[in-house]
Amino acid sequence: MTTADGLSADVIVVGAGFAGLTAARELVKRDVSTILLEARDRVGGRVLNHPIGDGQALDVGAQWVGPGQDHMIALADEMGVKRFPTPGAGMKNVDYMDGARTVHDGDVPDGGDPATLIETLNAFRTLTQMSEEVPTDDPWNAEHAREWDAQTFQVWMDANIQDATAKTRVQTAIEAVYAVEPHDLSLLFMLWYAKAGQGIMNLVSTEGGAQAEQYDGGTQLVAIRTAELLGDRVHLSHPVRRITQNGERLTVEGDRFKVQGKRVIVTLPPPLAGRIDYDPAMPAIRDQLTQRAPMGCVIKVHVLYDEPFWRDEGLSGRVVSDTGPVRVSFDNTPLSGSPGVLVTFIEGGDGRRFANASEEERRDAVVQCMERYFGPKAAKPSGYVEKDWPADQWSRGCYGSVFPAGTLVSCGSALREPVGSIHWAGTETATMFPGYMDGAVRSGERAAAEVLELLA
Ligand SMILES: Cc1cc2nc3c(=O)[nH]c(=O)nc-3n(C[C@H](O)[C@H](O)[C@H](O)COP(=O)(O)OP(=O)(O)OC[C@H]3O[C@@H](n4cnc5c(N)ncnc54)[C@H](O)[C@@H]3O)c2cc1C
Repeated sequence: MTTADGLSADVIVVGAGFAGLTAARELVKRDVSTILLEARDRVGGRVLNHPIGDGQALDVGAQWVGPGQDHMIALADEMGVKRFPTPGAGMKNVDYMDGARTVHDGDVPDGGDPATLIETLNAFRTLTQMSEEVPTDDPWNAEHAREWDAQTFQVWMDANIQDATAKTRVQTAIEAVYAVEPHDLSLLFMLWYAKAGQGIMNLVSTEGGAQAEQYDGGTQLVAIRTAELLGDRVHLSHPVRRITQNGERLTVEGDRFKVQGKRVIVTLPPPLAGRIDYDPAMPAIRDQLTQRAPMGCVIKVHVLYDEPFWRDEGLSGRVVSDTGPVRVSFDNTPLSGSPGVLVTFIEGGDGRRFANASEEERRDAVVQCMERYFGPKAAKPSGYVEKDWPADQWSRGCYGSVFPAGTLVSCGSALREPVGSIHWAGTETATMFPGYMDGAVRSGERAAAEVLELLA
Protein backbone atom coordinates (compact mmCIF):
# COMPACT_ATOMS: atom_id res chain seq x y z
CA MET A 1 0.00 0.00 0.00
CA THR A 2 1.33 3.41 -0.96
CA THR A 3 0.87 6.19 1.54
CA ALA A 4 -0.41 9.54 0.39
CA ASP A 5 1.14 11.31 3.37
CA GLY A 6 2.91 14.51 2.38
CA LEU A 7 1.68 14.48 -1.22
CA SER A 8 0.01 17.38 -2.94
CA ALA A 9 -2.00 17.69 -6.15
CA ASP A 10 -4.31 20.13 -7.88
CA VAL A 11 -7.34 18.02 -7.05
CA ILE A 12 -8.01 15.54 -4.28
CA VAL A 13 -10.88 13.14 -4.87
CA VAL A 14 -12.43 11.41 -1.85
CA GLY A 15 -13.98 7.99 -2.48
CA ALA A 16 -13.21 5.41 -5.19
CA GLY A 17 -16.70 4.36 -6.18
CA PHE A 18 -17.81 5.06 -9.74
CA ALA A 19 -18.22 8.79 -9.00
CA GLY A 20 -14.68 9.20 -7.64
CA LEU A 21 -13.06 6.95 -10.22
CA THR A 22 -14.78 8.82 -13.05
CA ALA A 23 -13.96 12.25 -11.65
CA ALA A 24 -10.30 11.28 -11.22
CA ARG A 25 -10.16 9.78 -14.69
CA GLU A 26 -11.62 12.90 -16.33
CA LEU A 27 -9.06 15.06 -14.52
CA VAL A 28 -6.12 12.83 -15.36
CA LYS A 29 -7.18 12.74 -19.03
CA ARG A 30 -6.68 16.51 -18.98
CA ASP A 31 -3.29 16.25 -17.23
CA VAL A 32 -4.53 17.64 -13.93
CA SER A 33 -2.57 16.26 -11.00
CA THR A 34 -4.95 14.18 -8.90
CA ILE A 35 -4.93 12.11 -5.71
CA LEU A 36 -7.74 9.65 -5.05
CA LEU A 37 -8.26 8.70 -1.39
CA GLU A 38 -10.36 5.64 -0.58
CA ALA A 39 -11.26 4.39 2.91
CA ARG A 40 -11.59 0.72 2.01
CA ASP A 41 -8.83 -1.63 0.89
CA ARG A 42 -10.57 -1.94 -2.48
CA VAL A 43 -12.20 0.20 -5.15
CA GLY A 44 -15.83 0.11 -6.30
CA GLY A 45 -17.70 1.36 -3.23
CA ARG A 46 -21.27 0.07 -3.48
CA VAL A 47 -20.14 -2.29 -6.26
CA LEU A 48 -18.48 -5.51 -5.12
CA ASN A 49 -17.67 -8.90 -6.64
CA HIS A 50 -17.89 -12.09 -4.62
CA PRO A 51 -15.81 -14.67 -6.54
CA ILE A 52 -17.38 -18.14 -6.90
CA GLY A 53 -14.63 -19.81 -8.92
CA ASP A 54 -13.90 -20.29 -12.64
CA GLY A 55 -13.57 -16.51 -13.07
CA GLN A 56 -17.22 -16.10 -12.10
CA ALA A 57 -18.47 -13.65 -9.50
CA LEU A 58 -21.68 -12.70 -7.78
CA ASP A 59 -22.50 -9.01 -7.66
CA VAL A 60 -23.13 -8.50 -3.96
CA GLY A 61 -23.53 -4.78 -4.67
CA ALA A 62 -24.92 -3.07 -7.78
CA GLN A 63 -25.44 -5.16 -10.87
CA TRP A 64 -28.10 -4.12 -13.40
CA VAL A 65 -28.04 -1.52 -16.15
CA GLY A 66 -30.76 -0.61 -18.59
CA PRO A 67 -31.78 1.77 -21.39
CA GLY A 68 -30.69 5.36 -20.93
CA GLN A 69 -27.87 4.46 -18.53
CA ASP A 70 -25.49 5.42 -21.30
CA HIS A 71 -22.64 6.79 -19.22
CA MET A 72 -22.22 3.63 -17.14
CA ILE A 73 -22.64 1.48 -20.23
CA ALA A 74 -20.00 3.51 -22.10
CA LEU A 75 -17.53 3.21 -19.20
CA ALA A 76 -18.01 -0.56 -18.96
CA ASP A 77 -17.69 -0.91 -22.75
CA GLU A 78 -14.45 1.04 -22.61
CA MET A 79 -13.17 -1.26 -19.86
CA GLY A 80 -14.05 -4.28 -21.98
CA VAL A 81 -16.61 -5.73 -19.54
CA LYS A 82 -19.46 -7.39 -21.40
CA ARG A 83 -23.17 -7.22 -20.67
CA PHE A 84 -25.69 -10.02 -20.89
CA PRO A 85 -29.48 -9.94 -20.54
CA THR A 86 -30.95 -10.65 -17.13
CA PRO A 87 -32.09 -14.29 -17.27
CA GLY A 88 -35.78 -15.15 -17.33
CA ALA A 89 -37.22 -13.28 -20.33
CA GLY A 90 -40.33 -14.93 -21.71
CA MET A 91 -40.65 -17.30 -18.74
CA LYS A 92 -43.29 -17.29 -16.04
CA ASN A 93 -43.05 -15.21 -12.88
CA VAL A 94 -44.25 -16.18 -9.42
CA ASP A 95 -46.75 -14.04 -7.54
CA TYR A 96 -47.49 -14.63 -3.85
CA MET A 97 -50.33 -12.56 -2.38
CA ASP A 98 -52.68 -13.18 0.54
CA GLY A 99 -51.25 -16.65 1.04
CA ALA A 100 -51.82 -17.76 -2.57
CA ARG A 101 -49.07 -18.63 -5.07
CA THR A 102 -49.80 -18.09 -8.77
CA VAL A 103 -47.60 -17.96 -11.87
CA HIS A 104 -48.05 -15.50 -14.71
CA ASP A 105 -46.46 -14.07 -17.88
CA GLY A 106 -45.07 -10.54 -18.05
CA ASP A 107 -44.22 -8.05 -15.30
CA VAL A 108 -47.79 -7.55 -14.08
CA PRO A 109 -49.86 -10.45 -12.68
CA ASP A 110 -52.95 -10.98 -14.82
CA GLY A 111 -54.87 -13.19 -12.38
CA GLY A 112 -57.01 -12.11 -9.44
CA ASP A 113 -59.54 -9.34 -9.31
CA PRO A 114 -59.39 -7.20 -12.49
CA ALA A 115 -60.24 -4.16 -10.37
CA THR A 116 -56.97 -4.66 -8.46
CA LEU A 117 -54.99 -4.73 -11.68
CA ILE A 118 -56.72 -1.61 -12.99
CA GLU A 119 -56.13 0.28 -9.75
CA THR A 120 -52.46 -0.77 -9.62
CA LEU A 121 -51.85 0.37 -13.19
CA ASN A 122 -53.78 3.58 -12.62
CA ALA A 123 -51.62 4.40 -9.60
CA PHE A 124 -48.44 4.00 -11.67
CA ARG A 125 -49.99 6.03 -14.50
CA THR A 126 -50.90 8.87 -12.14
CA LEU A 127 -47.45 8.86 -10.56
CA THR A 128 -45.87 8.96 -14.00
CA GLN A 129 -47.99 11.98 -14.94
CA MET A 130 -47.18 13.77 -11.69
CA SER A 131 -43.46 13.11 -12.06
CA GLU A 132 -43.53 14.66 -15.54
CA GLU A 133 -43.88 18.10 -13.97
CA VAL A 134 -40.84 17.69 -11.67
CA PRO A 135 -37.67 19.28 -13.10
CA THR A 136 -34.73 16.93 -12.62
CA ASP A 137 -32.18 19.73 -12.02
CA ASP A 138 -34.17 21.53 -9.33
CA PRO A 139 -37.13 19.46 -8.14
CA TRP A 140 -37.63 21.92 -5.27
CA ASN A 141 -38.91 24.36 -7.91
CA ALA A 142 -41.66 22.06 -9.23
CA GLU A 143 -45.09 23.71 -9.30
CA HIS A 144 -46.38 21.43 -6.52
CA ALA A 145 -43.02 21.04 -4.76
CA ARG A 146 -44.12 22.22 -1.32
CA GLU A 147 -47.39 20.29 -1.33
CA TRP A 148 -45.71 17.07 -2.46
CA ASP A 149 -42.66 17.40 -0.24
CA ALA A 150 -44.92 17.96 2.78
CA GLN A 151 -46.35 14.44 2.50
CA THR A 152 -44.90 10.96 2.62
CA PHE A 153 -45.51 8.44 -0.13
CA GLN A 154 -47.60 6.48 2.40
CA VAL A 155 -49.97 9.44 2.77
CA TRP A 156 -50.35 9.61 -1.01
CA MET A 157 -51.05 5.87 -1.24
CA ASP A 158 -53.63 6.00 1.54
CA ALA A 159 -55.46 8.85 -0.16
CA ASN A 160 -55.27 7.50 -3.71
CA ILE A 161 -55.33 3.68 -3.65
CA GLN A 162 -58.41 2.07 -2.14
CA ASP A 163 -57.85 -1.59 -3.06
CA ALA A 164 -55.69 -3.28 -0.39
CA THR A 165 -53.91 -5.64 -2.81
CA ALA A 166 -53.22 -2.81 -5.27
CA LYS A 167 -51.70 -0.85 -2.39
CA THR A 168 -49.51 -3.81 -1.43
CA ARG A 169 -48.32 -4.14 -5.03
CA VAL A 170 -47.40 -0.48 -5.29
CA GLN A 171 -45.70 -0.63 -1.88
CA THR A 172 -43.65 -3.70 -2.88
CA ALA A 173 -42.49 -1.95 -6.05
CA ILE A 174 -41.56 1.22 -4.17
CA GLU A 175 -39.63 -0.69 -1.52
CA ALA A 176 -37.75 -2.58 -4.22
CA VAL A 177 -36.66 0.63 -5.94
CA TYR A 178 -36.05 2.93 -2.95
CA ALA A 179 -35.12 0.36 -0.25
CA VAL A 180 -37.24 2.12 2.36
CA GLU A 181 -40.90 1.94 3.35
CA PRO A 182 -43.44 4.39 1.88
CA HIS A 183 -43.64 6.31 5.16
CA ASP A 184 -39.89 7.02 4.94
CA LEU A 185 -40.16 8.76 1.60
CA SER A 186 -41.21 12.26 0.54
CA LEU A 187 -43.70 12.12 -2.34
CA LEU A 188 -41.69 14.82 -4.12
CA PHE A 189 -38.46 12.83 -3.74
CA MET A 190 -40.20 9.70 -5.00
CA LEU A 191 -41.44 11.56 -8.11
CA TRP A 192 -38.11 13.28 -8.79
CA TYR A 193 -36.08 10.07 -8.52
CA ALA A 194 -38.56 8.32 -10.81
CA LYS A 195 -38.48 11.12 -13.39
CA ALA A 196 -34.66 11.23 -13.32
CA GLY A 197 -34.65 7.45 -13.85
CA GLN A 198 -36.81 7.79 -16.98
CA GLY A 199 -40.05 7.00 -15.15
CA ILE A 200 -41.23 4.68 -12.42
CA MET A 201 -42.23 2.02 -14.98
CA ASN A 202 -38.65 2.01 -16.27
CA LEU A 203 -37.29 1.59 -12.74
CA VAL A 204 -39.54 -1.36 -11.90
CA SER A 205 -39.11 -3.15 -15.24
CA THR A 206 -36.65 -5.83 -16.22
CA GLU A 207 -36.84 -6.37 -20.01
CA GLY A 208 -36.43 -2.93 -21.56
CA GLY A 209 -36.07 -1.37 -18.07
CA ALA A 210 -33.53 -0.65 -15.34
CA GLN A 211 -32.95 -4.35 -14.58
CA ALA A 212 -32.40 -5.34 -18.24
CA GLU A 213 -28.74 -6.36 -18.27
CA GLN A 214 -25.80 -7.25 -16.07
CA TYR A 215 -22.06 -7.75 -16.38
CA ASP A 216 -20.26 -10.99 -17.13
CA GLY A 217 -17.56 -11.49 -14.49
CA GLY A 218 -19.16 -8.97 -12.12
CA THR A 219 -19.60 -5.21 -12.23
CA GLN A 220 -16.68 -4.49 -9.92
CA LEU A 221 -14.40 -5.44 -12.83
CA VAL A 222 -15.34 -2.10 -14.40
CA ALA A 223 -14.18 -0.25 -11.28
CA ILE A 224 -11.00 -2.32 -10.93
CA ARG A 225 -10.00 -1.67 -14.54
CA THR A 226 -10.77 2.04 -14.26
CA ALA A 227 -8.63 2.22 -11.13
CA GLU A 228 -5.77 0.44 -12.92
CA LEU A 229 -5.66 3.31 -15.41
CA LEU A 230 -5.22 5.72 -12.49
CA GLY A 231 -2.24 3.74 -11.16
CA ASP A 232 -0.54 5.04 -8.03
CA ARG A 233 -2.83 8.05 -7.81
CA VAL A 234 -5.27 5.72 -6.02
CA HIS A 235 -4.59 5.37 -2.29
CA LEU A 236 -6.55 2.58 -0.61
CA SER A 237 -7.12 2.30 3.16
CA HIS A 238 -7.02 6.10 3.43
CA PRO A 239 -10.21 7.13 5.25
CA VAL A 240 -10.56 10.90 5.18
CA ARG A 241 -11.40 12.37 8.59
CA ARG A 242 -10.95 16.11 8.17
CA ILE A 243 -10.92 18.76 5.43
CA THR A 244 -9.52 22.19 6.24
CA GLN A 245 -9.86 25.21 3.96
CA ASN A 246 -7.49 28.01 4.77
CA GLY A 247 -7.70 30.63 2.02
CA GLU A 248 -6.22 29.04 -1.09
CA ARG A 249 -4.79 26.12 0.89
CA LEU A 250 -6.83 23.00 1.26
CA THR A 251 -5.73 20.15 3.52
CA VAL A 252 -7.27 16.69 3.56
CA GLU A 253 -6.33 14.50 6.52
CA GLY A 254 -6.72 10.98 7.78
CA ASP A 255 -5.33 9.27 10.86
CA ARG A 256 -1.92 8.72 9.27
CA PHE A 257 -1.77 11.09 6.34
CA LYS A 258 -2.14 14.69 5.30
CA VAL A 259 -2.34 15.85 1.67
CA GLN A 260 -2.75 19.27 0.12
CA GLY A 261 -4.56 20.52 -2.95
CA LYS A 262 -6.40 23.37 -4.62
CA ARG A 263 -9.79 21.66 -4.92
CA VAL A 264 -11.39 18.60 -3.42
CA ILE A 265 -14.23 16.49 -4.80
CA VAL A 266 -16.10 14.57 -2.09
CA THR A 267 -18.03 11.66 -3.63
CA LEU A 268 -19.56 10.12 -0.51
CA PRO A 269 -23.31 9.79 -0.05
CA PRO A 270 -24.59 12.74 2.03
CA PRO A 271 -24.82 10.92 5.41
CA LEU A 272 -21.19 9.78 5.12
CA ALA A 273 -19.99 13.14 3.77
CA GLY A 274 -21.51 14.58 6.96
CA ARG A 275 -19.24 12.41 9.10
CA ILE A 276 -16.13 14.18 7.83
CA ASP A 277 -15.00 17.04 10.05
CA TYR A 278 -14.87 20.33 8.11
CA ASP A 279 -12.95 23.43 9.11
CA PRO A 280 -14.53 25.93 8.75
CA ALA A 281 -17.76 24.11 9.57
CA MET A 282 -20.25 23.49 6.78
CA PRO A 283 -22.95 26.09 6.14
CA ALA A 284 -26.17 25.27 8.02
CA ILE A 285 -28.20 24.02 5.07
CA ARG A 286 -25.45 21.74 3.77
CA ASP A 287 -25.11 20.19 7.23
CA GLN A 288 -28.88 19.89 7.61
CA LEU A 289 -28.94 18.04 4.29
CA THR A 290 -26.37 15.52 5.47
CA GLN A 291 -28.35 15.02 8.68
CA ARG A 292 -31.66 14.53 6.88
CA ALA A 293 -30.98 12.19 3.94
CA PRO A 294 -30.46 8.70 5.40
CA MET A 295 -29.36 5.65 3.44
CA GLY A 296 -31.83 3.00 2.36
CA CYS A 297 -31.54 -0.38 4.04
CA VAL A 298 -30.65 -3.53 2.07
CA ILE A 299 -29.10 -6.88 2.85
CA LYS A 300 -28.43 -8.47 -0.55
CA VAL A 301 -28.70 -12.25 -0.51
CA HIS A 302 -27.71 -14.94 -3.02
CA VAL A 303 -28.97 -18.49 -2.66
CA LEU A 304 -26.95 -20.99 -4.69
CA TYR A 305 -28.12 -24.33 -6.13
CA ASP A 306 -26.32 -26.97 -8.19
CA GLU A 307 -28.37 -25.86 -11.17
CA PRO A 308 -31.14 -23.35 -12.00
CA PHE A 309 -33.86 -26.01 -11.53
CA TRP A 310 -36.70 -23.46 -11.80
CA ARG A 311 -35.89 -22.96 -15.48
CA ASP A 312 -36.90 -26.58 -16.18
CA GLU A 313 -40.31 -25.69 -14.78
CA GLY A 314 -40.61 -22.68 -17.10
CA LEU A 315 -40.02 -20.21 -14.27
CA SER A 316 -37.98 -17.03 -14.59
CA GLY A 317 -36.82 -17.00 -10.96
CA ARG A 318 -38.69 -13.71 -10.48
CA VAL A 319 -41.06 -13.28 -7.57
CA VAL A 320 -43.29 -10.55 -6.23
CA SER A 321 -44.61 -11.33 -2.76
CA ASP A 322 -46.46 -9.60 0.06
CA THR A 323 -44.63 -11.76 2.60
CA GLY A 324 -41.05 -11.05 3.62
CA PRO A 325 -38.22 -11.24 3.94
CA VAL A 326 -38.14 -12.29 0.24
CA ARG A 327 -40.57 -9.91 -1.47
CA VAL A 328 -38.75 -9.90 -4.80
CA SER A 329 -36.27 -12.27 -6.38
CA PHE A 330 -34.42 -12.73 -9.66
CA ASP A 331 -32.45 -15.43 -11.42
CA ASN A 332 -28.81 -14.43 -10.99
CA THR A 333 -27.23 -17.51 -12.53
CA PRO A 334 -23.94 -16.60 -14.25
CA LEU A 335 -23.78 -16.64 -18.04
CA SER A 336 -22.20 -20.12 -17.97
CA GLY A 337 -25.46 -21.51 -16.52
CA SER A 338 -23.91 -22.89 -13.35
CA PRO A 339 -24.37 -22.71 -10.41
CA GLY A 340 -28.06 -21.82 -10.26
CA VAL A 341 -28.43 -18.59 -8.31
CA LEU A 342 -31.47 -16.77 -6.94
CA VAL A 343 -30.88 -13.25 -5.69
CA THR A 344 -33.05 -11.31 -3.28
CA PHE A 345 -32.94 -8.18 -1.18
CA ILE A 346 -34.01 -7.91 2.46
CA GLU A 347 -35.15 -4.33 2.20
CA GLY A 348 -36.48 -1.37 4.12
CA GLY A 349 -38.32 -2.39 7.32
CA ASP A 350 -37.43 -6.06 6.74
CA GLY A 351 -33.78 -5.02 6.49
CA ARG A 352 -33.97 -3.30 9.85
CA ARG A 353 -35.95 -6.14 11.44
CA PHE A 354 -33.31 -8.65 10.32
CA ALA A 355 -30.33 -6.42 11.10
CA ASN A 356 -29.70 -8.00 14.48
CA ALA A 357 -30.53 -11.56 13.42
CA SER A 358 -27.69 -14.02 12.91
CA GLU A 359 -26.65 -15.00 9.39
CA GLU A 360 -28.13 -18.43 10.08
CA GLU A 361 -31.50 -16.93 11.04
CA ARG A 362 -31.54 -14.81 7.90
CA ARG A 363 -30.54 -17.80 5.80
CA ASP A 364 -33.35 -19.94 7.25
CA ALA A 365 -35.93 -17.20 6.69
CA VAL A 366 -34.81 -16.63 3.09
CA VAL A 367 -34.66 -20.33 2.20
CA GLN A 368 -38.16 -20.85 3.63
CA CYS A 369 -39.44 -18.11 1.33
CA MET A 370 -37.67 -19.65 -1.67
CA GLU A 371 -39.27 -23.01 -0.89
CA ARG A 372 -42.69 -21.33 -0.75
CA TYR A 373 -42.14 -19.83 -4.21
CA PHE A 374 -40.12 -22.54 -6.00
CA GLY A 375 -41.01 -25.79 -4.23
CA PRO A 376 -39.04 -28.42 -2.28
CA LYS A 377 -35.88 -28.25 -4.44
CA ALA A 378 -35.39 -24.69 -3.21
CA ALA A 379 -35.16 -25.96 0.37
CA LYS A 380 -31.72 -27.51 -0.26
CA PRO A 381 -29.32 -24.81 -1.43
CA SER A 382 -25.66 -25.57 -2.03
CA GLY A 383 -24.55 -22.14 -0.87
CA TYR A 384 -25.61 -18.85 0.68
CA VAL A 385 -23.89 -15.47 0.27
CA GLU A 386 -25.10 -12.28 1.89
CA LYS A 387 -23.81 -8.73 2.09
CA ASP A 388 -25.17 -6.55 4.86
CA TRP A 389 -24.75 -3.02 3.47
CA PRO A 390 -26.17 -1.05 6.42
CA ALA A 391 -23.58 -2.76 8.64
CA ASP A 392 -20.76 -1.71 6.32
CA GLN A 393 -18.91 1.23 7.82
CA TRP A 394 -18.15 2.84 4.46
CA SER A 395 -21.66 2.64 3.00
CA ARG A 396 -24.04 2.38 5.98
CA GLY A 397 -26.83 1.29 3.65
CA CYS A 398 -27.96 1.48 0.06
CA TYR A 399 -29.02 1.72 -2.69
CA GLY A 400 -28.66 5.43 -2.06
CA SER A 401 -29.65 8.06 0.44
CA VAL A 402 -33.37 8.90 0.41
CA PHE A 403 -35.18 12.08 1.33
CA PRO A 404 -37.95 12.05 3.94
CA ALA A 405 -40.72 14.65 3.86
CA GLY A 406 -39.59 18.26 3.89
CA THR A 407 -35.92 17.72 3.05
CA LEU A 408 -35.79 18.21 -0.71
CA VAL A 409 -37.48 21.61 -0.66
CA SER A 410 -35.56 22.92 2.34
CA CYS A 411 -32.09 21.42 1.76
CA GLY A 412 -31.99 19.97 -1.79
CA SER A 413 -30.22 22.99 -3.27
CA ALA A 414 -27.16 22.14 -1.11
CA LEU A 415 -26.69 18.78 -2.90
CA ARG A 416 -24.33 20.08 -5.59
CA GLU A 417 -23.54 23.64 -4.43
CA PRO A 418 -19.76 23.82 -3.82
CA VAL A 419 -18.61 25.08 -0.42
CA GLY A 420 -15.46 27.12 -1.02
CA SER A 421 -13.07 24.73 -2.74
CA ILE A 422 -15.08 21.64 -1.87
CA HIS A 423 -17.17 20.11 -4.66
CA TRP A 424 -19.74 17.35 -4.33
CA ALA A 425 -20.23 14.27 -6.50
CA GLY A 426 -21.72 10.83 -5.91
CA THR A 427 -24.85 9.25 -7.35
CA GLU A 428 -27.05 11.22 -4.94
CA THR A 429 -26.03 14.44 -6.69
CA ALA A 430 -26.96 13.23 -10.18
CA THR A 431 -29.78 14.72 -12.22
CA MET A 432 -30.14 11.56 -14.28
CA PHE A 433 -30.32 8.13 -12.65
CA PRO A 434 -29.57 9.28 -9.09
CA GLY A 435 -29.13 6.22 -6.89
CA TYR A 436 -27.77 4.21 -9.83
CA MET A 437 -24.26 3.51 -11.11
CA ASP A 438 -25.04 5.63 -14.14
CA GLY A 439 -25.83 8.57 -11.86
CA ALA A 440 -22.52 8.05 -10.10
CA VAL A 441 -20.56 8.15 -13.38
CA ARG A 442 -22.46 11.23 -14.55
CA SER A 443 -21.85 13.00 -11.23
CA GLY A 444 -18.12 12.31 -11.47
CA GLU A 445 -18.04 13.80 -14.95
CA ARG A 446 -20.01 16.87 -13.82
CA ALA A 447 -17.82 17.52 -10.77
CA ALA A 448 -14.63 17.12 -12.82
CA ALA A 449 -15.95 19.61 -15.40
CA GLU A 450 -16.82 22.06 -12.59
CA VAL A 451 -13.30 21.85 -11.18
CA LEU A 452 -11.59 21.99 -14.59
CA GLU A 453 -13.35 25.24 -15.38
CA LEU A 454 -12.14 26.79 -12.13
CA LEU A 455 -8.57 25.57 -12.53
CA ALA A 456 -8.31 26.85 -16.11
C1 LIG B 1 -26.90 -4.10 -2.91
C2 LIG B 1 -26.88 -2.98 -3.93
C3 LIG B 1 -27.55 -3.14 -5.11
C4 LIG B 1 -27.55 -2.12 -6.06
N1 LIG B 1 -28.11 -2.35 -7.29
C5 LIG B 1 -27.90 -1.47 -8.28
C6 LIG B 1 -28.17 -1.84 -9.62
O1 LIG B 1 -28.59 -2.97 -9.91
N2 LIG B 1 -27.93 -0.91 -10.60
C7 LIG B 1 -27.42 0.33 -10.31
O2 LIG B 1 -27.19 1.11 -11.23
N3 LIG B 1 -27.14 0.68 -9.03
C8 LIG B 1 -27.35 -0.18 -8.03
N4 LIG B 1 -26.96 0.12 -6.75
C9 LIG B 1 -26.52 1.49 -6.44
C10 LIG B 1 -25.08 1.76 -6.90
O3 LIG B 1 -24.23 0.82 -6.30
C11 LIG B 1 -24.66 3.15 -6.50
O4 LIG B 1 -25.56 4.10 -7.01
C12 LIG B 1 -23.28 3.55 -7.02
O5 LIG B 1 -22.38 2.48 -7.01
C13 LIG B 1 -22.77 4.71 -6.15
O6 LIG B 1 -21.47 5.10 -6.55
P1 LIG B 1 -20.80 6.36 -5.84
O7 LIG B 1 -19.44 6.48 -6.39
O8 LIG B 1 -21.70 7.52 -5.92
O9 LIG B 1 -20.76 5.98 -4.29
P2 LIG B 1 -19.97 4.78 -3.56
O10 LIG B 1 -19.92 3.61 -4.44
O11 LIG B 1 -20.62 4.64 -2.24
O12 LIG B 1 -18.51 5.36 -3.41
C14 LIG B 1 -18.12 6.15 -2.31
C15 LIG B 1 -16.76 5.67 -1.88
O13 LIG B 1 -16.31 6.48 -0.81
C16 LIG B 1 -15.63 5.65 0.13
N5 LIG B 1 -15.64 6.34 1.42
C17 LIG B 1 -16.63 6.45 2.34
N6 LIG B 1 -16.24 7.22 3.36
C18 LIG B 1 -14.97 7.62 3.10
C19 LIG B 1 -14.03 8.46 3.76
N7 LIG B 1 -14.29 9.06 4.93
N8 LIG B 1 -12.81 8.63 3.19
C20 LIG B 1 -12.50 8.05 2.00
N9 LIG B 1 -13.35 7.26 1.33
C21 LIG B 1 -14.58 7.06 1.86
C22 LIG B 1 -16.41 4.36 0.12
O14 LIG B 1 -15.63 3.31 0.61
C23 LIG B 1 -16.74 4.23 -1.36
O15 LIG B 1 -15.76 3.51 -2.05
C24 LIG B 1 -26.92 -0.88 -5.78
C25 LIG B 1 -26.24 -0.73 -4.57
C26 LIG B 1 -26.20 -1.77 -3.67
C27 LIG B 1 -25.36 -1.62 -2.43
